[in-house]
Amino acid sequence: LLRAAGLHKSFGDNEVLRGIDLTLHRGEVVVLIGPSGSGKTTVLRSLNGLETPDGGSLVVDGGVDIDFSVPVTQRQRFALRDRSAMVFQNHNLFPHFTVLQNVIEGPWRVQGRPKDEVVAEARSLLARVGLADREDARPHELSGGQQQRVGIVRALALHPDLLLFDEPTSALDPELVGEVLRVIKELADEGWSMVVVTHELSFAKEAADRVVFMDGGVVVEEGAPAQLFGAPVQERTRRFLARIM
Ligand code: ATP
Repeated sequence: LLRAAGLHKSFGDNEVLRGIDLTLHRGEVVVLIGPSGSGKTTVLRSLNGLETPDGGSLVVDGGVDIDFSVPVTQRQRFALRDRSAMVFQNHNLFPHFTVLQNVIEGPWRVQGRPKDEVVAEARSLLARVGLADREDARPHELSGGQQQRVGIVRALALHPDLLLFDEPTSALDPELVGEVLRVIKELADEGWSMVVVTHELSFAKEAADRVVFMDGGVVVEEGAPAQLFGAPVQERTRRFLARIM
């Protein structure tokens, strides 16, 4: 579904990505872990076109083939953005919109799909995540966990090929983490392709097909959860896991 090769990205003289290779097969769940500042968010944003790498390449099924060593065109940027949908740490809902308006904005106004179809689908997605009765609420009237479930529904409503989650539970109170991870796990079980940046290792163990450990802007090691957590090969991986497990 997706193949990134040799991604480089610097912010000023801070070289954040130093040659990232990452593949994702259709239906696969990849969890990205690593210390703070290792570049995980920058990788995710690069896959979605929110950040433009300075080098490397990215191929996504469905018409995206970008060589970052030459200037990226607007058309390439739009094509890339169209393939995936991102769920942010702080959900990024429009505060003055209702839940339903937040969900339909992208598919209706941006993608130009018929409003009645988009509204019907939005309602059924909200029901799925237990929010059928909250479509008229504003984000501030919801708990953090409910807000994040709306964020997930908003991403699904865009019909992406690929879901990207950027620390979807790290802004939540501990008692709300489970309800959000449960929804993501269900989507994983349904066969969605996704890349999830998270510090929730129990989620990674349960839901990931593959765990990728990043440090210092490179992929240090990757493998099935049982292998990476149970028998890491690299010293850097072992040290990181020892600190957080
Ligand atoms: P965390 O777990 O803390 O979110 P991360 O692994 O996701 O960390 P990134 O958010 O990708 O790491 O950030 C990597 C480095 O890039 C950090 O040093 C950060 O300060 C820097 N950085 C990220 N975005 C920008 C930006 N837009 N401008 C300048 N520096 C940035």
